[in-house]
Amino acid sequence: MNFEYDNDNIFAKILRGEIPCIKVFEDEHTLAFMDIMPQKPGHTLVIPKESATTIYDLSDEACLSCMKTVKIVGKAIEKAMQSEGSTIFQLNGVFAGQSVPHFHFHVFPGPPVDLKDHAVELEDVEKLKLIANKIVACI
Ligand code: 5GP
Repeated sequence: MNFEYDNDNIFAKILRGEIPCIKVFEDEHTLAFMDIMPQKPGHTLVIPKESATTIYDLSDEACLSCMKTVKIVGKAIEKAMQSEGSTIFQLNGVFAGQSVPHFHFHVFPGPPVDLKDHAVELEDVEKLKLIANKIVACI
């Protein structure tokens, strides 16, 4: 299903610099930053700069750019969090549980177990910055 893009969604505001984020990586087409309600320490989001709600709205070029960034950031997360593996997931549409209507990948260290609830508990910003610095150092 395709969705009308909402220019006022929170990630569009982050991309426009209207609200802050704890950035770990940025290139011409993508941005990666810490999830403020992480399900696990190291939980990071990768978004395209292109306006798209779901993977079905996203151009193939932007999709590829996101995958490249996911690989860079995911490897750094594994190294920074001393994890032998990582989980990458992505939700499309409210019915699937997508809560922010701008396409994004979730990346976190290890398997999808021992997770906190999705998008519920705000993390301490200083703690997020410490983890972000570790990830940045591994990119
Ligand atoms: P979704 O439910 O759409 O797959 O994931 C959205 C993610 O964005 C959630 O994991 C949630 O914790 C995160 N999130 C929601 N609002 C903000 C915000 O303002 N800043 C950041 N960095 N993450 C957010």
